[in-house]
Amino acid sequence: MSPTKQARARRAAERTLVILGASGDLTTRLLLPGLATLLESEPERNVRVLGAAMEPYTPAQWTKRVRTSLTKAKAAPAVRDTILASTAYRKTNVLDKAALVDLLEDLPPESVLYFALPPQVTIQACALLAEIDPLPKGLKLALEKPFGFDKASAAKFNRLLTRIVPEEQTFRIDHFLGKSAVLNLLGLRFGNRVFEPIWNNVNISHVDIVADETLALEGRAGYYDGNGALKDMIQSHLLLIMAMVAMEEIASVDEVELRDLMAHVLRSTHLVGPAKKASRRARYTAGKVGRREIPAYVDEPGVDPDRRTETLAEITVEVRNSRWAGVPFRLRSGKALGADRRGIYLHFKPVAHSMTGLVDSATPNCLKLGMSPETIELTVTTNGEGDPFELENTTLAATIGDSHIRPYGEILAGILDGVPLLSVRGDIAEECWRIVDPVLKAWAKDEVPLQTYPAGSAGPRGWPA
Ligand code: NDP
Repeated sequence: MSPTKQARARRAAERTLVILGASGDLTTRLLLPGLATLLESEPERNVRVLGAAMEPYTPAQWTKRVRTSLTKAKAAPAVRDTILASTAYRKTNVLDKAALVDLLEDLPPESVLYFALPPQVTIQACALLAEIDPLPKGLKLALEKPFGFDKASAAKFNRLLTRIVPEEQTFRIDHFLGKSAVLNLLGLRFGNRVFEPIWNNVNISHVDIVADETLALEGRAGYYDGNGALKDMIQSHLLLIMAMVAMEEIASVDEVELRDLMAHVLRSTHLVGPAKKASRRARYTAGKVGRREIPAYVDEPGVDPDRRTETLAEITVEVRNSRWAGVPFRLRSGKALGADRRGIYLHFKPVAHSMTGLVDSATPNCLKLGMSPETIELTVTTNGEGDPFELENTTLAATIGDSHIRPYGEILAGILDGVPLLSVRGDIAEECWRIVDPVLKAWAKDEVPLQTYPAGSAGPRGWPA
């Protein structure tokens, strides 16, 4: 069979997606809507959703939840009805081995177990799964972030998973890898002659990868207060993006090649100097984002001020190889800031010689790859409008249409097809923790001050804009 026919046959085969934690926020807000966009783009897919959680939902109550989630997400009515026609719910305590056995017994081959559970519950449920034999043939595990709490716990969790299914059937989720802007990095870097030859330390002075948002806690203290900006955003999402920015040239887009190259670059990545110099943290105080009054983080319901959770974090790393030596990569993410800024900024060095006889008011080139909305902006130096003897900046800008399939839809497609291209391999998850572990330790010892910034500002005074 040709690869295209194989892919079509894979998509048409019936797949059961079991969501453990189906009454939670992730399922209703991201997973079901993501699945709907996938089915809308690929209507030949045949996916049955089986929800499982502790809540004793009747079939009507479950159907109503699914309908509400899909309606809120503006899913196409035909897709919504297809999902509703086959979905079912099983009250299941995943920490009860007998209940797990019951659930698994009825599953067809190639089913997906999606762990949309609190992280500790996921680990405990996996420990039970490791004791169950036999498991449904071809069972795939989809594991949400955070994957572990540091390098040691991630490594231990990886060892546990190898006792359940092989690595090719384990999908560690990072939905940033499903974002078209991140995938488009490959096309931009390797599909053009003009970028790859200058993508190195000869030409680039520093790189910023930023995910700042105006949103504050929005009632998510239960999850966020135990994690903070470093674990929530930098340890996973931003380090993976950095790996795709800095990796060597990819010859073919397959799961071995892509993930080998990401692991390769992460293994060379280290903090620039000791953690107390290479990291900063801060927490927002009361302020105004636009017209919205935001209370201080410590006054948000459910927050324990003694945890000293940061809402803005920054680390600076370097990639110790010949392409990147000497180029700092600054990774920053925060909440309740004055502006939404999500993107990769490649700052180029100035030209080797500035022409004499011209007034140079321009800054060196900067390539900005924006995420949501997806944009490409290249700042170049041009002769000034009205004064050709002065140099100034001009920005060449383009907006790229977002993919119709939401990031969770892209991720689910890979899992359902058994293609782990967009999932995080075990060694990559461990490398990401290895890079941030010294920061976590320095922060726990209070070696780095917890600064403050008013909600709606650009961050603490003295931090780079
Ligand atoms: P919620 O707290 O909203 O939901 C947790 C779910 O787990 C509930 O359905 C709960 O069921 C269920 N659950 C807990 N214990 C058991 C048990 N013993 N047996 C069966 N079900 C159980 O969490 P989220 O949906 O927000 O997050 C889930 C995972 O997804 C987490 O790992 C989180 O880090 C990750 N994630 C979440 C994102 C989000 O935006 N929400 C984004 C990215 C990742 P019941 O209510 O019936 O007890």
